[in-house]
Parts: sequence; C-alpha cells; structure tokens
Amino acid sequence: MGAAELSIDLTAIVANWRALDALTASHVATAAVVKADAYGLGAAEVAGALARAGARSFFVALAGEGAAVRRAVGREAEVFVFAGHMANDASTLRDNALIPLLNSPEQWQCHQADLPGHAFGIQLDTGMNRLGMEAADWAGLRDHILRGKPSLVMSHLASADAPDDPLNAAQLAEFHAQTDGLNLRRSLAATGGVLLGRDYHFDLCRPGIGLYGGLPFGDARPVLRLSLPVVQVREVRPGEIVGYSGTWEAARPSRIATLAAGYADGLIRAMSGKALVWAGDIACPLVGRVSMDLMAVDVTDLDKVPEAFDILGPHQSVDDLAAAAGTIGYEILTSLGGRYNRVYIGG
Ligand SMILES: *Cc1c(COP(=O)(O)O)cnc(C)c1O
Repeated sequence: MGAAELSIDLTAIVANWRALDALTASHVATAAVVKADAYGLGAAEVAGALARAGARSFFVALAGEGAAVRRAVGREAEVFVFAGHMANDASTLRDNALIPLLNSPEQWQCHQADLPGHAFGIQLDTGMNRLGMEAADWAGLRDHILRGKPSLVMSHLASADAPDDPLNAAQLAEFHAQTDGLNLRRSLAATGGVLLGRDYHFDLCRPGIGLYGGLPFGDARPVLRLSLPVVQVREVRPGEIVGYSGTWEAARPSRIATLAAGYADGLIRAMSGKALVWAGDIACPLVGRVSMDLMAVDVTDLDKVPEAFDILGPHQSVDDLAAAAGTIGYEILTSLGGRYNRVYIGG
C-alpha cells in the first residue's frame, strides 16, 4: 500500500451544480467557479465534467489558470478571469479566448490598448473593497465602456454566508444603483448569494464552494473521500509519548497506528490532537503532533486495525475537519496536496 487515496466524485459535483441551478429561476444561468485548480480538486477534470453536463460559463482567478480550463471545456463556453487584464496577460487572454473582468480604469485602458475588440466584462466594487471599479470611476467611464459591449457586469458580496448581515442588502442596493436601466448582463451571487434568494440572482450565478460540497451549501452532496493507509502499528506503555515534542502521553496501555499523510499533504498541523479518523463507523482520535508525512492515531479501542482510515468521508466533511483545525473548508480543500493518488468517480 502506497500513497493515501483521494477520491473525487465528479457525479456529486455535477449534482451540486444542478441543485444550485435549480434554486434559481429558469432564465438565470449557473456558472462554475474553477479557480485555484477547482479548489484543489482538478480544474481540467471538474470543468470538463461540468461542461459535459451543460455548464456554459466558467470563472478562474488568474489568466494563467485559463488555458487548462479552455482545453477542458471546448471552444463554445465562456471563461472569465476575476483578476481582469493584468500586465503581460494579453497573449494568454487572446490565445485562450478568456474574458477579463476589468477592475479599474487602468485595466480598461490597458485592455483597450493591448486587445482592442477582445471580449471583456467589468467587475464593480459595491462595498467589499477588494476588487472592482469604484462607483465614481464607473460613473465616469460608463458610457464609453458600454459602447464596447461588455459581456458581463459583476460584483461580489462580502458576507453572503451570513444571511442576516445588513451588508448583503446594502451591496444589493448599490449594485442596482450602479447597473439598473443599462441593459447589461449582470452577476452578483456566489454560493452564499444563490442561497440568499432570487433578488440576488440577476442573470448569472457563479458558485464555487457549493459545487465541491462545502458550506454554506448545507444540502450539498459530499464530494470527497480521503483514505490514509497505515504504515505501522505499535503498542505503547503508560507514560510513553507519541510524536514530536511528546505532546501526547499514554495514560493506559495503548495501540498506536501511524498513517501515511501529514501537513505536507494539506492535513495541517493545527489538526493535531483535534481531528478524528474513521475505521468504518468508528472514530479514532489523532494523538500527538501531525508531522510532515505522518500522523498517529489511538486505535486501542478497535478490535481489528484496518489497512486504512478515512479522514474525509461520510462521517467527517471538509467543514468538520476545518472546524477541528480552526479554519474554513475552503482552506482545507485548496491545501489538499499533490502526493495523493487521485481517483475520479463518474462525470
Ligand atoms: C471565489 C469567488 C466566487 C465563488 O465563491 P464561493 O463562495 O466559493 O461560491 C465567486 N465570485 C468571486 C468574485 C470569487 O472570488
């Protein structure tokens, strides 16, 4: 037995995309956000499966991520770039027919100079103050930009995972104020925005995390199973320690299994002593420090030690594991390392 096995259920990703699409009215399209290698799960595989299922619009963060997605989705689909048109992006945007979402007057000028006539969209800031044109810049350039026929005008919500946050309604009102009456194709909602309801949907929704089974889409189908093989099992006497710095000490005669994955695989050190791994339906606690390639588990209470333990699966979601480590599901997903034996199911 070698590397840990990460199985990625493309059928579940497609089902989650359809379920999110079903929450919107029939005239609203649903895109797929596949930035950061589809949140670490493989942009080519994920985007290809979604394109075959009927997705027609995709989003990446950087132009450099667009080539792999373009290859996977074919010539017809739209591929948008959140970071817009940055220095030296022109040939990548052109060669892969990517649509930059221009974020500033400087990007608009750069795009006009370097790729006149090439499709573009506009990202507006409506209060998050991260990316997007300021209202005053948009007001000044708007008529000029509209003559270039933007493919999409979008903005992003800062607190869509918190439905009661008044910032949601404030950003919605600001987006209306900036875009109403202009006959534009519009997009505001990521996963959280889809769940906020139809006022937030406009023409195109762009979920990411919900496709991959993560919160705030609580009804998502689980997508991942991560199974860690046992390298070695040993008996430990009371008073003996396990792992770096001896942070765990046996209080009883214990049986310890050492598993073949660690923080170099994205199973971050903050999980030490907090996360569980599963032998079928039985949970076993991690003990001692997670190290680079290994972690230790107390298996004393098992009748039989299996060949491998699940750290992600039906009993422990990405969000459960994130909570144990004091972070969010997005970070656990995008940290999953390159050493796993990756197995794609369905799609
Ligand atoms: C990452 C991102 C999304 C997708 O967000 P999720 O919360 O993963 O659904 C949508 N829009 C923008 C601008 C983003 O940066």
